[in-house]
Amino acid sequence: MQHPIFAAVKKQKRAIVLEDVLVQDYAAEGKCLARVDGKVIFIEGTVPGDVVDVQLQKSKKDWAEGYPLRFKKYSADRVLPFCSHFGICGGCQWQSLPYEKQLLYKQKQVNDNLSRIGKVILPELFSIIGADETRHYRNKLEFTFCNKKFIPSDEFRKLKSEGAEIINEGGFGGFHAKGVFDKIVEIDTCHLQHEPTNLIRKAIVAYALENNLPFYDIKSHQGWLRNVVVRSATTGELMINIVLGYDEENQTKLFDQLLKQFPQITTLLYTINKKFNDSIFDLNPQVYFGKGSIIEQLEDFQFKISPKSFFQTNTKQAEKLYHIAREYAELDGTQTLYDLYCGTGSIGIFASKNAKKIIGVELIAQAIEDAKENAALNNILHSVFVTGDVIDICDDAFFETHGRPDVVITDPPRAGMHEKLVKKLLEIAAPIIVYVSCNPATQARDIALLDEKYAVTKIQPVDMFPHTHHIENVMQLKLKL
Ligand code: SAH
Repeated sequence: MQHPIFAAVKKQKRAIVLEDVLVQDYAAEGKCLARVDGKVIFIEGTVPGDVVDVQLQKSKKDWAEGYPLRFKKYSADRVLPFCSHFGICGGCQWQSLPYEKQLLYKQKQVNDNLSRIGKVILPELFSIIGADETRHYRNKLEFTFCNKKFIPSDEFRKLKSEGAEIINEGGFGGFHAKGVFDKIVEIDTCHLQHEPTNLIRKAIVAYALENNLPFYDIKSHQGWLRNVVVRSATTGELMINIVLGYDEENQTKLFDQLLKQFPQITTLLYTINKKFNDSIFDLNPQVYFGKGSIIEQLEDFQFKISPKSFFQTNTKQAEKLYHIAREYAELDGTQTLYDLYCGTGSIGIFASKNAKKIIGVELIAQAIEDAKENAALNNILHSVFVTGDVIDICDDAFFETHGRPDVVITDPPRAGMHEKLVKKLLEIAAPIIVYVSCNPATQARDIALLDEKYAVTKIQPVDMFPHTHHIENVMQLKLKL
């Protein structure tokens, strides 16, 4: 019963193996924990209740880290993963737990972080808001094309013993394989996005194979077909951006064929990427068909999404998240609202109807361009969006120019807020802070600092990413009297 992920991991010399370890609880970052001889062992790829032999990768005085070499007993909580690529593809690692259990662990994770790290007086957490749709929830999916595919060693052995032909070179579409940089996991059906996403990927693969067009070789950085990004909106609009290593005379034939085969595509772009990395941020996507962007709708607000725009990837849950953030802001039409780490301005725009003024701050200039465009699209005239680092922008002069904040909504990346910003927020003392976080550990650290002047009044976790360990949490903080 060897776990397929670990078949790829090289066996280490004199590696320590702990036998018959009972996995006791969920820890964090997708890892579970067990206690052996008073030492905490963090184990990946398991669920509480499993009994495993653990191969240690790191062993310190009080803790160690490892992966399951063998499963001796599977937890009674386990359910059969619905995806045939589970364990090999790096995504959706919690499929082996029922969704209710996933939610329970996420709720507990928020609670544990806040009480252990935050150590402040807390109201009772509201129950985590789960997703109605636990599959097909992503509005953006990126596949990689590659000339080599990864075959897990047990499948390899099986094919060999059957005398079957092993084909691991040619042209494939899928996701990067965990721990193997130059090969991809070939995907048949990915359940993260509604069709025609998988069908589009397969049609592109088939076209390239039929026409002898080379798939990208990650090691030598040669080849034509690199990636495809599919973005869909609840409005029905569908954008695809095909990333290619170089211009190829006949590429329009592929584009025309896709448009004919998939009339759902409302805009098609292609991007030439001659770089060694996959990021398209410094590249120029070319519009081949349609308007080059799609429109997403949350309530009656519209958002323009371009190939490079950031947008929350789970539209339906984003709507719920923004709804809570807006409710916690307690706006009555008279307040000045700051939207810090605003991205493309979506939270501020969502809350705009009941704010006197919105001021958004964001590091990425392109996102601020989108935010301004989105504000215009929704006829929001009482907004200002500023590009820059929050710790440089949010100084006394800034607050003097735009008005003292009545409400601050802050939505930092995983690292949480910079201490300098937390200090500024304490100084400026807005009556309400709404803290949206994708990392309860850094959120807990920050509220411990804010505790000097703020009381936590509401806590609401939201699940944005079913079958993954990622957690989103919204908090309302009020100035202590
Ligand atoms: N509130 C937005 C985006 C949140 S993601 C939404 O819901 O869509 C966090 C954002 O913080 C990212 O857009 C990132 O570019 C931005 N960011 C990261 N560090 C920053 C900093 N130091 N100053 C300003 N913005 C920052």
